[in-house]
Amino acid sequence: MRPTPGTSTLGFNEPLIFDRSVAGRSAASLPALDVPAIDPAAVLPKDLLRATPAALPEVSEPEVVRHFVRLSTWNFSVDHGTYPLGSCTMKYNPKVNEWAARLPGFSGLHPYTPQHLAQGALALMWELECMLAEVSGMAGVSLQPAAGAHGEATCLMMIRKALADRGDARRKVLIPDTAHGTNPASSARNGYEVEPVSSTEEGVLDPRSVAEKMDGSVAALMLTNPNTVGLFEKHIAEVTEIVHAKGGFVFGDGANLNALLGRARPGDFGVDAMQFNLHKTFSTPHGGGGPGSGPVGVCKTLVPYLPTPRPVRLDDGAFALSADFAKSIGRVRSFCGNFGVMVRAYAYMREMGPQGLRRVADMAVLNANYLLALVKDAYHVPFGGGRCMHECVLSDRDLQKETHVSTLDVAKGLIDQGFHPPTIYFPLIVKGALMCEPTETETRESVEEFAHALIDIAKMARSDAESLHHAPHRTRLGRLDEVTAARKPILKAEER
Ligand SMILES: *Cc1c(COP(=O)(O)O)cnc(C)c1O
Repeated sequence: MRPTPGTSTLGFNEPLIFDRSVAGRSAASLPALDVPAIDPAAVLPKDLLRATPAALPEVSEPEVVRHFVRLSTWNFSVDHGTYPLGSCTMKYNPKVNEWAARLPGFSGLHPYTPQHLAQGALALMWELECMLAEVSGMAGVSLQPAAGAHGEATCLMMIRKALADRGDARRKVLIPDTAHGTNPASSARNGYEVEPVSSTEEGVLDPRSVAEKMDGSVAALMLTNPNTVGLFEKHIAEVTEIVHAKGGFVFGDGANLNALLGRARPGDFGVDAMQFNLHKTFSTPHGGGGPGSGPVGVCKTLVPYLPTPRPVRLDDGAFALSADFAKSIGRVRSFCGNFGVMVRAYAYMREMGPQGLRRVADMAVLNANYLLALVKDAYHVPFGGGRCMHECVLSDRDLQKETHVSTLDVAKGLIDQGFHPPTIYFPLIVKGALMCEPTETETRESVEEFAHALIDIAKMARSDAESLHHAPHRTRLGRLDEVTAARKPILKAEER
């Protein structure tokens, strides 16, 4: 049964917690002091003393709890319902991984704990690196980078250093026109010029256009497979050969790995460096700015360049962190990275096992194809001839011509039906793109419910376009000024 729209929700308005503050009120009750009070001025250096007390809200415990619980109802989450935000892999994350990450031995471990007292954590990191290497076919892995984009940048740093070591100063990176925006950003960050490569009408890379642009000035080709229109790059073997033959490296954006797990390995189809998005593929809740983790995997040539320190296994079986890698690009993140995310990924992979991980890819691809089959008469399907990998790109091009309803209207209409909208207006090469990734964790019924909602909206565009222009109607707030919100966020009470 679809979530019934229109019933009232608990979307309370909620002031800033500072507005609830009453002097002297407290959320804690401590016993009276039974030791002499110390005057901070007598023991702390003068320059560390505050002139005035910190302006913290003074509220009771129930006020704190209600404040944050109410705020949490303003957001849509994976735990609320289907969240088919294409490319982002907003799948359900089993709660047992949260349990594992919160085990006191992991969550309370201080990063400066001596290595002989942190053997469990080091073993977990070392084993997780091995498991990621195994599923991806890469020769070595580092868990340090803090997110996917950071992993991309780290891979390009390694490629740049490997090229420099052979006296080769290349200045360009080739990137397909369907790529995620972080790919060109990572290139620019490493001082590379970006040269776009266009895809064919089929939505995949044409080896001929790669061959035309590939020469001795190109450091790397960055590609995503399956790509961001949800298709497997079927010429991948030929494409990677062309790049390698001219001395370049192939970077593979691993954000879509849930489409391949247990079925194909980037290392086997010629990728030299890739990032993993543990917070997408390996089950850490994300969105809303929580911590991510973007480990990198590299081929044999690039292993010496991996960030340090690296977890290593010593001859006596003990684990240690070693910075003893002369060619390494060095550290890219404080301490060892976002350790809690690694625990979740480790627990998830152990729980799933090889068969379970293969089933992830099978179900991700099956769900996206089922969705596509259900909605293909209501929306234009620009690529793939009715087939896709883990996500499908639809277009409301025809609907727009007929009804003047915009892609944004369609997305906002879905919110009223109880769904998070898909990714819209991306990839840029598709007009009116709606990029849907149901993910492997949706049931057959929830894929059907989402498909019916999309079909209903196409009908509504014809019968009541005006209403869609003003959707969502059932949320606490309707249309926000998203541009101003992004460009001029108001983050402090006094700015209001
Ligand atoms: C999410 C994503 C990224 C970036 O990952 P972050 O962890 O958000 O930095 C890069 N490429 C693709 C294809 C993605 O979907």
